[in-house]
Amino acid sequence: MDPLQTPLQYLKGVGPRRAADLQRVGLVTLEDLLYRFPIRYEDRGSFETIASLRPGAAASIIGEVVSCGVRPTRRPRFKIFEMLLRDRTGSIRAVWFNQPFLSDVFHPHQRVILYGKLDLSSHGLQLQNPQYEILKSDDPAEAEDETLHTGRIVPVYEKTGTLTTKMQRVLVHHALAQLPAELADPLPPAVRARQRLIDRRQALTEVHFPPAGTPMEELHGFRAPAQRRVIFEEFFLFQVGMVLRRRKADVERKPRAVVVTDEIRESARRVLPFKLTGDQKKAIAEIVGDMKRPQPMNRLLQGDVGSGKTIVALMAALVAMENNLQVAFMAPTEILAEQHFITIRRLLEHSRFRLALLTGATAARKRREMQAEVAAGSIHLVIGTHALVQDPVAFHELGLVIIDEQHRFGVMQRATLRAKGLHPDVLVMTATPIPRTLALTAYGDLDTSIMREMPPGRYPIKTIAKPESRRDEIYEFVRRQIEEGRQAYVVYPLVEESSKVDLKAATEMADHLAQDIFPAYRVGLLHGRMKQDAKDRVMGAFARGEFDVLVSTTVIEVGIDVANAAVMIVEHAERFGLSQLHQLRGRVGRGPHKSFCILLYQSPLNEQGRERLKALTETTDGFEIAERDLQLRGPGDFFGTRQSGIPTLRIGDLLRDHQLMEDARREAVTALDDAEQAAPLVAFVHGAWEQRFGLVGVG
Ligand code: ADP
Ligand code: MG
Repeated sequence: MDPLQTPLQYLKGVGPRRAADLQRVGLVTLEDLLYRFPIRYEDRGSFETIASLRPGAAASIIGEVVSCGVRPTRRPRFKIFEMLLRDRTGSIRAVWFNQPFLSDVFHPHQRVILYGKLDLSSHGLQLQNPQYEILKSDDPAEAEDETLHTGRIVPVYEKTGTLTTKMQRVLVHHALAQLPAELADPLPPAVRARQRLIDRRQALTEVHFPPAGTPMEELHGFRAPAQRRVIFEEFFLFQVGMVLRRRKADVERKPRAVVVTDEIRESARRVLPFKLTGDQKKAIAEIVGDMKRPQPMNRLLQGDVGSGKTIVALMAALVAMENNLQVAFMAPTEILAEQHFITIRRLLEHSRFRLALLTGATAARKRREMQAEVAAGSIHLVIGTHALVQDPVAFHELGLVIIDEQHRFGVMQRATLRAKGLHPDVLVMTATPIPRTLALTAYGDLDTSIMREMPPGRYPIKTIAKPESRRDEIYEFVRRQIEEGRQAYVVYPLVEESSKVDLKAATEMADHLAQDIFPAYRVGLLHGRMKQDAKDRVMGAFARGEFDVLVSTTVIEVGIDVANAAVMIVEHAERFGLSQLHQLRGRVGRGPHKSFCILLYQSPLNEQGRERLKALTETTDGFEIAERDLQLRGPGDFFGTRQSGIPTLRIGDLLRDHQLMEDARREAVTALDDAEQAAPLVAFVHGAWEQRFGLVGVG
């Protein structure tokens, strides 16, 4: 039995009631408690003798109360509680302002600890408003308990439920006292030696109660030996799980590996409407390389908006279909699914392949017909929303799944497919480049292809941030662009599609623009609560140039492709995230015209808002934007959802501890390659991984 699994109920100072309280905040075992790490530390030093005290410094002293009481002052209602404290070297005054209740707390002969700053007053040296601890007992064991909170570097925990930092300190102290001197260590000795890590037992003690003399900068940088050790442990176990997940996928076999013949190459060339960029060619080669292997492909294609991912996906689809395998192509929204459908149908016009669009909006009867054809294998390519995977769509022989513009659900969808006993090739495409730091974590089990090159003949988008007060100039500018034949988007933030207030704002804006600002032009409105066919009509009309201005909510965020749209105004730009704004502006600059993105913001901007807008005006490189976004928001918010594949970490920080994560990855691979080390690790991770990291498991 692992002593760390002992229920907290059996810990000294915890009865059934306290245990229930702790359980409510997720603390059940000693491990739960000990792996709830301090968020910071306070240096309350070691005890100093009263004779050695100097003004200006902070000090902890331990002594006996000689006398104490409330002293009135000349100011009415202003009271001072005063104490005289003595140790074997001398005595000192301590004062507290306006805390008369302290007369009920202190009395002469008590042994107390005071911690605070020393001031030189007209009465001599004194402690002002110090923190205090009253030692209740002469029993040395209990006295130690009581001195936990001062006279040393003390851990500070986040308060949770009824558990205060002080209570946790006491419980952790008991727990550490109760643990055996030796603890099983999940880190193999070889790894520990190579990484120069202290052992687990010592690390657990010292991460909570750092030894005297540990530099505070080290602790606050999370670089003290004990911290490094527990962070590494966390990352290492995480990476073991990732590597296992990956290796598990490697023993899977897909229905059939593809072959690529000269005829297939020729058929692909016939479909291509333009010359591929170097990066597109490279990505296609990597993807097709995977498709030829017996293991299912598990690849992430990263390419900034407009880098031309669709054609890459289509080439992969074509290879699968030429091999008599079916393809499912999933987009995050119905509009995008339709757009892909239209693009791909046009490109495949002269081929023998049949495709179908299947979304939530497809009528039940039509859906049943299509499903029958999919099952019979007479439809080769199905384009739809992620309902494709959730619905029991039976394929005749599904060979390739393409998931577009989504980093959020890739992992889940693969799990869903696998649960249905399907092991097709999976290609996930994202326009939000994933910073290296996170790639190792969120996608540690994926291969990646990166396209940084843009198709030729594009002007970079010029991005300008302006306060709302300059609106008139902007409208004038838009008017000139329309006169030149261009089209414009006006984007409204919509936090949730169901938010009526925002929707009203967008609707009113459209009316206002149509009537007052651009009466001579045609203004359309598009939002997520419109019926599917209404959306289609509006989007189609805009694409055909029948609207000059399209007022829209963020439903146009990803993928929409109208080459003549050269201006975008983003209203309330301060409300959007950095990556989201970058995605949005990728809707313009898709044709041969010089394009503009105008970010209108409401003053005053806060610090973060200013940084975001600045980043956007300074660069159009999606990879750089992603790095900055990560710095600004932190990894948790970068992806936004828990399904993102970002683990819940107890102490490690993906940004701060980036290097440790890379080391952990390397060590995890090495350890798993060694049968002797691997066996206990695999057992450990199978038992604890999902629960620990809150991710789809390895089992
Ligand atoms: P994204 O990567 O954002 O999904 P798309 O696949 O929608 O980009 O491509 C953006 C636009 O660029 C489309 O109009 C597409 O036809 C065009 N395009 C893609 N690749 C090339 C290329 N190699 N040469 C010229 N145009 C291209
Ligand atoms: Mg796209």
